[in-house]
Amino acid sequence: MSIGEEVLVVFGGGAAGVYGAIRAKTVAPKLNVVVIEKGKPLSKVRISGGGRCNVTNGHCVDNKIYILAERYPRGYREFRGTFFDVHGPMDTMSWFSDHGVDLKTEDDGRVFPVSNSSSSIIDCHLSEAKQRGVFLQTGKVVTTTNATAGGKFLFKLEKRTLNLVECIEADYLLIASGSSKPV
Ligand SMILES: Cc1cc2nc3c(=O)[nH]c(=O)nc-3n(C[C@H](O)[C@H](O)[C@H](O)COP(=O)(O)OP(=O)(O)OC[C@H]3O[C@@H](n4cnc5c(N)ncnc54)[C@H](O)[C@@H]3O)c2cc1C
Repeated sequence: MSIGEEVLVVFGGGAAGVYGAIRAKTVAPKLNVVVIEKGKPLSKVRISGGGRCNVTNGHCVDNKIYILAERYPRGYREFRGTFFDVHGPMDTMSWFSDHGVDLKTEDDGRVFPVSNSSSSIIDCHLSEAKQRGVFLQTGKVVTTTNATAGGKFLFKLEKRTLNLVECIEADYLLIASGSSKPV
């Protein structure tokens, strides 16, 4: 990273963190984006949809999110959050098509990669992140975060296998730790 450039640290390399990092680099290509992941990136995506990854619902062709929410057995309220107002099911399908993942819609509306493998979704995200210059650090745990007097964020990272501790500073922070408790 060059001195003087702004840094976004994304805490968590799951679906939210990796997609968030790609999106940040898309809208702000000069931003340094670092994803810190304690295990393997996108590991929950690998097991999602029985290993096939159900990316959205293809019956919501008008992008109306309430239709998607009604078809989702859990988390109805969360589905109606602001994200889906700006990025609905059709946007999801277009994004994957534009990034080389062929999708199919099953009779019940569930949308999967034609490959029937969540690896297609993982490979697409990791390749896009690499191409855009997202810096992915795996095997490192964020153990503390503090705000500095200068308005930045200071993180302590631990690589437990090597008994290594390092500190990094960031201008922006995206917490995407999933169901793990943020530190
Ligand atoms: C069995 C199953 C099937 C599913 N099927 C589907 C499906 O078909 N379609 C669908 O849309 N959704 C599905 N889901 C839900 C979907 O997998 C999750 O909503 C999604 O993966 C959540 O992504 P996330 O990035 O918010 O969280 P996570 O995937 O949990 O990612 C958070 C990441 O943060 C990392 N992390 C946490 N704390 C730290 C720390 N201190 N330092 C460094 N890293 C840290 C974790 O290791 C993790 O990788 C399924 C879920 C399950 C369990």
